Amino acid sequence: MHRGQNHLSNPDIVIRITLREIAGAKKGEMLNRQKIFLISCSFLLVAWILVGTDSVRAFSRAQGGKGIILCSTTQIADFTRNIVGDSLEVKCILAPGADPHTYMPTPKDAQMAAQAEICIQNGLHLEGKNWMATLAKDAGKPIVTAAEGVQPLELDTDGKITTDPHAWFSPKNAAIYVRNITSALCEANPSLKWSLESRAKLYLAELRALDSWIRQMVHIIPVPQRILVTSHDAFNYFAVEYGFRNQAPVGWSTGSEVGGGMTPSRFKSVVASIKNLGVKAVFVETSVNPKLIREIAREAGVAIGGELYSDSMGAEDSAGETYIGMMRENVITIVGGLK
Ligand SMILES: [Zn+2]
Repeated sequence: MHRGQNHLSNPDIVIRITLREIAGAKKGEMLNRQKIFLISCSFLLVAWILVGTDSVRAFSRAQGGKGIILCSTTQIADFTRNIVGDSLEVKCILAPGADPHTYMPTPKDAQMAAQAEICIQNGLHLEGKNWMATLAKDAGKPIVTAAEGVQPLELDTDGKITTDPHAWFSPKNAAIYVRNITSALCEANPSLKWSLESRAKLYLAELRALDSWIRQMVHIIPVPQRILVTSHDAFNYFAVEYGFRNQAPVGWSTGSEVGGGMTPSRFKSVVASIKNLGVKAVFVETSVNPKLIREIAREAGVAIGGELYSDSMGAEDSAGETYIGMMRENVITIVGGLK
């Protein structure tokens, strides 16, 4: 202990002092009110030190444990892993292939939120009925919205304006996510600031490389053939960034929220567009039931161009298990189907 350091700040010493007091009492010493008060204060101090967030974190890390960051989607978990390396543990609520719009949290998710230091969500209503913010709030944990500061696209679905939550489909927006996550983690872990920012810098360079590679790739498709038809409206940010027109029969959400859900008029309009525009192929999404898009393909007499990662990355060990991997595989599938 450093000279001059208040010994009451050390839990061991506090416990020893307290035990000495109790031992003295057992020997028959009279415990006056002052002593009882001091002992009570000591116990309260120990309890306060042990439950304090910093102490729990320090205790957990001293035991070989790492601080836990809980993410809602696979993409956000991947961004976070690229930033934290091995310094923190990243957990994800959604499994590969799961649908964030319709997800219902489980008691296990609530347990994970209780163990986490910080929860991170996409925001923009991607997490249907705000399930991630609710998990964090119920566990008393801070929530970070990765899409904060993104310029959201607006969707006009049957006259109702909604903001499009699928912002990560532009690597430029993915960079905003990475900066938001990095600054939140640096604030919570000042001792890791330099290493977190260093990893983020490399990952941001990878995102810029991804963006310029996509631009080169989509040039292979003649402009009139750049029409992307998928199950639900997940690809607007991609379409705007890389010069595609896109159509999705289900709307922006797979759930029955505002603007979401399939209607017969949307089905007809998509089939008509495919025929009128001479679309070469339509695409299935990994996190959405392919039945509808298969029906559309059959009705319009068009091929299925392949399967795209939309709201979820691929399973472990698949080519799409990372954000950069899923974007790369999507672009190869889209360009291969439409060129
Ligand atoms: Zn979606």
